[in-house]
Amino acid sequence: MLYDVIVVGAGPAGSTAARLLAQRGASVLLLDRARFPRDKPCGGGVTIRAAAYLDLDLSPVIERTVYGARFFLGLGPAFDRWYRQPWTYMTQRCRLDSFLAEAACEAGSDFHDGEAVRAVEVEDGQVTLRSRGGAYRARTLIAADGANGISGRSGGLRPQFEEAVALEGNLPFSPSVPAEWRELIALDLGGWTGGYGWVFPKGDHLNLGVGVWKYAALTLRPKLADLCRRYGFDAAKLENLRGHHLPMRVPGTPVARGPLLAVGDAAGLIDPLTGEGIHMAFLSARLAADAIMAYLAGEATDLSPYQRAVERRLQPELTASRKLQELFHYAPPLYVALLRHSQRFWYAFCQLIRGETTYQGLLRKVGPLRPLLVYSAGLAQRRRVSKHARLR
Ligand SMILES: Cc1cc2nc3c(=O)[nH]c(=O)nc-3n(C[C@H](O)[C@H](O)[C@H](O)COP(=O)(O)OP(=O)(O)OC[C@H]3O[C@@H](n4cnc5c(N)ncnc54)[C@H](O)[C@@H]3O)c2cc1C
Repeated sequence: MLYDVIVVGAGPAGSTAARLLAQRGASVLLLDRARFPRDKPCGGGVTIRAAAYLDLDLSPVIERTVYGARFFLGLGPAFDRWYRQPWTYMTQRCRLDSFLAEAACEAGSDFHDGEAVRAVEVEDGQVTLRSRGGAYRARTLIAADGANGISGRSGGLRPQFEEAVALEGNLPFSPSVPAEWRELIALDLGGWTGGYGWVFPKGDHLNLGVGVWKYAALTLRPKLADLCRRYGFDAAKLENLRGHHLPMRVPGTPVARGPLLAVGDAAGLIDPLTGEGIHMAFLSARLAADAIMAYLAGEATDLSPYQRAVERRLQPELTASRKLQELFHYAPPLYVALLRHSQRFWYAFCQLIRGETTYQGLLRKVGPLRPLLVYSAGLAQRRRVSKHARLR
């Protein structure tokens, strides 16, 4: 059988793309090397802006709805901030991803789990995919196999990334975990070499994690232990400790080539400031579905409209986030003080997480100061890069 689309990887990006395409009448094969339900190293935070973009009700898999955050600066004193509306849902990836894959199946996709893709060949504008289960052919292929995916690269698609890494583990609820921890998330900012530490409440446990630039990966374990100590938790009780990459796309690098395109982490669409990837996984899946439907209908000669859509609609946000990330990590105490004392700043942060404003919108708000901020972000980046070169 010649499929219209093969989707490699049934994470949030792949399953969403498969569902949208099947709903629009395409024949879709969705493949994942893992047997479902499967877990994935992830905090499982689905921001309101991410959920709002998905035309599915996620309530069956939401374990907590969070209205507030406890902030720390460099494991120092804490302060709590609350918002009048929810800003993040908490789920577990084993539940969210199964739910999304089931929705793709209900829409008509064939789903083969437990089937790893080994190679992708493109010939005469068609794709042949080889897996443990055999060979499949399709008119187009979506690489949705995450940060370490091989399907895009195997087919000649090579987006470039800057990389961060994160490590997380779960602490089951017990009488020693105070009840207040079930209502808010905690974010430890500053002192994390490009990232932050977090505590996310789930139905029956807390998820604790830390993220940093990749060159600081060796610090992850001691930092996670420090985080546990700071909150009064026993690091030895953490279960399912797992790490993974957070790929951040270098602007302009290829995400589409001939009949192939990449979505989500496979395209490096992690939000640099927040480390969030589910939001862009959903957004890129929709742009991919649009480009593929136009191609299948003969309205485009290849999938390059997807590349252009990513550059126009996603990359400007990622670039703005990247600048704010550099600025933030240059002077974390300043931004933490603003979060603590400025209602306007805190509301702006909540509105961003809720999708009521964008990074570009925030930069526009600073008006004539914008060029200065952009210049300072460049300086901060150069200073950080040369400092890290000296440390290596
Ligand atoms: C520790 C950590 C915490 C994070 N916390 C958050 C958070 O709280 N909120 C948030 O929004 N983002 C978070 N992220 C980022 C988020 O997890 C990713 O951005 C998101 O999973 C990307 O979705 P995806 O569908 O692109 O890829 P993935 O979810 O990685 O899915 C890829 C799929 O491809 C499959 N696959 C891989 N190789 C093959 C192959 N050869 N053949 C077949 N299948 C294959 C895998 O089994 C997997 O199911 C976190 C990341 C890390 C590392």
